[in-house]
Amino acid sequence: MMEFSFVNPTKIIFGQGQIATIQQEIPSSAKVMIIYGGGSIKQNGIYQQVVDALSEHQVVEFSGIEPNPSYETAMRAVAQIKEHNIDYLLAVGGGSVIDGTKFIAAAAKFDGKPWDILAKAAEVTDALPIGVVLTLPATGSESNSYSVVSKLDSNDKLPFFSEKVQPKFAVLDAQVTKTLPERQLANGIVDAFVHVMEQYLTFDHGAKVQDRFAEGLLHTLIEEGPRVFAEPDNMEVRENLMWSATMALNGLIGAGVPQDWSTHMLGHEITALYGLDHAQTLAIVLPRMMHAMRQQKEAKLLQYAERIWGISEQDNNIAIDLAIEKTVAFFHSVNMPTRFSDYQLGEEIVDAIVEQLERHGMVALGENQQVTLDISREVLKASL
Ligand code: NAP
Ligand code: FE
Repeated sequence: MMEFSFVNPTKIIFGQGQIATIQQEIPSSAKVMIIYGGGSIKQNGIYQQVVDALSEHQVVEFSGIEPNPSYETAMRAVAQIKEHNIDYLLAVGGGSVIDGTKFIAAAAKFDGKPWDILAKAAEVTDALPIGVVLTLPATGSESNSYSVVSKLDSNDKLPFFSEKVQPKFAVLDAQVTKTLPERQLANGIVDAFVHVMEQYLTFDHGAKVQDRFAEGLLHTLIEEGPRVFAEPDNMEVRENLMWSATMALNGLIGAGVPQDWSTHMLGHEITALYGLDHAQTLAIVLPRMMHAMRQQKEAKLLQYAERIWGISEQDNNIAIDLAIEKTVAFFHSVNMPTRFSDYQLGEEIVDAIVEQLERHGMVALGENQQVTLDISREVLKASL
């Protein structure tokens, strides 16, 4: 196991009817900005629950954070924060609203050009406090320190990391997921699954606890994922999915282990250029990345084959092929396509994506920095 220090300071408030508790979580003297997306929260009653809970707080609103939140929109929020002297941000939404809010929180306190936080990994030394009401279980952003923000005029989609933007609390009421379209439910299941895989499917490192936790999350997602479509009223299924997505990227299974993230880095470029949903890109890339890295990851792939899919095939190559096939079949079982052609994208995309990777310095990805541009090209071609 590698050395690690682990703390996750986000208070999780889990369960039905818990949105009302935000009243106690946010200091009564705070001037709060409620940040949300395109308005789904106004149709499904979440907005009203939040406004009721904050009836004794001073509140302003900022709406219009788009899926794959943009730098441009975030900077409009920063201007309003300065105008109204806001000192607490409440993100009400999915990963995009939360990530956008994290960038806003950092940019509002940043000395210099906020774009440098994304483009040059400039250090974030201060940020406004953030609370979260999660509406889409998927990214884990509600209890981690990552954020991914896009710049529309240059097709950039770039991550940043800072402990300063880790949310203070996150409300996880699975009832809010009942209005999610099937496409977003599937996105959440696949994103969480791939988050686990990026931390689990690396070289063998002897971290048995992290492995077993990761396998528990994979089993839960595989069991409950298809059920949420078959039994949409089953709250237990929704709660298990919600908690799995949070646990998949809250630092626990990633402590003390090497991490891959090459599938995510390719995925970000695909979204930046062609606008596919985040999880749609991951379902395309992951199976072929597993194939391309099968030698480096052989021991873990065999463990995955056996423990997750019960594959007892003696021939290692056949076992790994079967495990990759099972992974693809799982994505299909939640109606998630796994090829570029499913989105009418053809060979022309390969050069364009490789160029973007090169422009962003993504030339040696993965836990061993062995995913070169040539391998990325091979993965993209195999995904057509
Ligand atoms: P999202 O982009 O936040 O939301 C997708 C859509 O779902 C939006 O149109 C949203 O509508 C709608 N929606 C959300 N909750 C709803 C509800 N309860 N009922 C009905 N509609 C609802 O999706 P996401 O998958 O959570 O986030 C994706 C983003 O997170 C990407 O940019 C990705 O790169 C990033 N990400 C971040 C991390 C991290 O650790 N920080 C990890 C992985 C991915 P409204 O706009 O109207 O709310
Ligand atoms: Fe993700």
